[in-house]
Amino acid sequence: MDDSALNYLQNTFGYPEFRLQQREIIDTLINAGDAVVLMPTGGGKSLCYQIPSLVRHGTGIIVSPLIALMHDQVIALRQLGIKAAYLNSTLDAATARQTEADLIGGKLDMLYVAPERLNTRSFLHLLQQTQISLFAIDEAHCVSQWGHDFRPDYIQLSILHEQFPDIPRIALTATADKATRKEIRLRLQLEHAREFISSFDRPNICYRIAESQGNARTSLLRFIQNEHENDSGIVYCLSRKKVESTAQWLTEKGFKALPYHAGLPAPVREQNQQRFLNEDAVIIVATIAFGMGIDKPDVRYVAHLNLPKSMEAYYQETGRAGRDGRPADAWMAYGLQDVITLKQMMATSTAAEQFKRAEHQKLETMLGFTEITSCRRQSLLHYFGEALDAPCGNCDNCLTPVETWDATVAAQKALSCVHRTDQRFGVNYLVDVLTGKETDRIRQFGHDALNVYGLGKEYEASQWRTIFRQLISRNLLAVDIEGHGSLRLTEICRSVLRGEETLLLRKESKRSKTSRKGRKSFNTDNASNNALWEALRECRKKLADENNVPPFVIFHDATLSEMMERRPENRQQLLNISGVGETKLEKYADAFLEVISKHKDNETLDTTDTVNETLLLFRSGQDIDTIANRRNIKTTTVYSHLASCIEQGELNLEEVIDLNQQDISIIHETMLSIDDGSRKLKPVYDALDGMFDYHILRCVQAATLPA
Ligand code: ADP
Ligand code: ZN
Repeated sequence: MDDSALNYLQNTFGYPEFRLQQREIIDTLINAGDAVVLMPTGGGKSLCYQIPSLVRHGTGIIVSPLIALMHDQVIALRQLGIKAAYLNSTLDAATARQTEADLIGGKLDMLYVAPERLNTRSFLHLLQQTQISLFAIDEAHCVSQWGHDFRPDYIQLSILHEQFPDIPRIALTATADKATRKEIRLRLQLEHAREFISSFDRPNICYRIAESQGNARTSLLRFIQNEHENDSGIVYCLSRKKVESTAQWLTEKGFKALPYHAGLPAPVREQNQQRFLNEDAVIIVATIAFGMGIDKPDVRYVAHLNLPKSMEAYYQETGRAGRDGRPADAWMAYGLQDVITLKQMMATSTAAEQFKRAEHQKLETMLGFTEITSCRRQSLLHYFGEALDAPCGNCDNCLTPVETWDATVAAQKALSCVHRTDQRFGVNYLVDVLTGKETDRIRQFGHDALNVYGLGKEYEASQWRTIFRQLISRNLLAVDIEGHGSLRLTEICRSVLRGEETLLLRKESKRSKTSRKGRKSFNTDNASNNALWEALRECRKKLADENNVPPFVIFHDATLSEMMERRPENRQQLLNISGVGETKLEKYADAFLEVISKHKDNETLDTTDTVNETLLLFRSGQDIDTIANRRNIKTTTVYSHLASCIEQGELNLEEVIDLNQQDISIIHETMLSIDDGSRKLKPVYDALDGMFDYHILRCVQAATLPA
């Protein structure tokens, strides 16, 4: 069999094999069949029409509603040596005319058009004179009048079938529900199309939800510092104000963090978005206004500093991480205050009753999802009607199984405290009463005379807050409507109060830190790999600037990372790396091969120099942050230099970090117990439950287990 599809995949796109159902979808189109494709974000929908466009005679016409994405796709295709163009309102008249001429002249492999243009008589006339290979209708859910993205122009697209009955069509979407799918088939006259439904699972995304004891920001900072120091990420906040303050705070901590919300002037938004696309390691702090039409493949994490309002929103927002298929994190911190605020919002919403009930239900489900002790992925997929047979092994609950504890007695104490104080007080006051705090307010109300006063001294205030949070989440307590935050008993709490029901709650570890399994972290690798990684990224950035495209259009992170591991020495070896096709090999092989070979030469020289420089500054009494600033390197790099000085006996451990003997032995013991010869710190970090940062581990390793 002639396998031109596979040839294009391997030689033009540089990928070794098809994913999921790509092959079947592509074959369907090549054989002139129609297809309706449902695939999650990052699943690889584009190839499903791009390859048949190349294999079949004529030009592939792709309808796409998002102008920015059209442009991005076209520049990416051109990088691969494919003749692609777009027609939309942003083009000047001359370019548009030239594009039209190219189309009729058969000079284009693919043409992207906006739906409103496709529906014009003049454009249809143009198409009549063109040899067309296929029609692709991207974001096909835009035909649904019930959806959020409804586009009237999409309805008219049925005209394609009427006017070009023999040309195969493919409709694609990442929007899941059945009703939308039915509408797509109906409205686009695709009743006879084959349907391809992929799983909505995003296996490379690790779902993690951390409890934050009041300060979610600090948890966020730790998360970014420890796991994503050099990565691009999105941080979602609920309000504009919080967006601004979080962005500023992260900036003060030395990160490139930019705000994005609807209240910013359009040019600022545009500029911040461009920097996010074009620079490395930019963090966008945004309200949910950010994300639509962003097609950046190497977003390594999406962090939520507030609970999303529904599972749909959570899935969609977290789905912006890891489109390139490499490991990525969906991280969220939430706490008692989030739960209270949300409950109040639900109670005070002025929306129509029916709508309110639906909203309410969605929030409840979301809240329940944060508290579950079983696999998050199973629960998420179940919500979308999909079954996952076994726990996933790549979510916090799978990685660090949550322990539960019998909280019946504690809950009874909390509930009676609410009852005895007449259901008029908020959590802080209730906790004060339970822990027997001596305050004027308590004395004023005479609550120090109650039998619940000081009845809960066995737990700290923070533990009580955790208990209250779970009681509210589980609707054993309700938040008042007036918005003062006072708690009252609910009907369903009675059975717990009467001791008829055992209540199991999550046991929150002091620092619930879970990090992804088997994560390839560049921070924790040795200094040499680090340097090569930086050099490869620099090379990519330079080429990107020269070509006026975002870095990921040159090569994805996955491709660079494979280069780093395999260190190709010639073109053939480079071509074997996933993501390197013939055109890119032609254009970029020399630059990257040179970086790699240079790196090999400098490997030993370089590191000793830079380590010495750090050592000198350190000996002159400067602290780590100052050294990092002065040398314009990361603090983690400074620590890795100092660690190698410790290893060489140039410095003592105590000079570098402040740690007592007991902690040192705990770390040392853990290292010994895990030792598999790899000297990897990640398993140690995980085993210690994130109690010590990587830089501490590295230094202790250098002191106690020199290589
Ligand atoms: P979607 O449109 O479904 O969100 P894309 O078409 O943008 O996804 O593909 C997501 C990423 O996966 C892209 O970077 C693409 O290059 C990559 N990709 C697609 N198919 C393959 C494949 N068979 N092998 C390797 N990478 C692929
Ligand atoms: Zn899981």
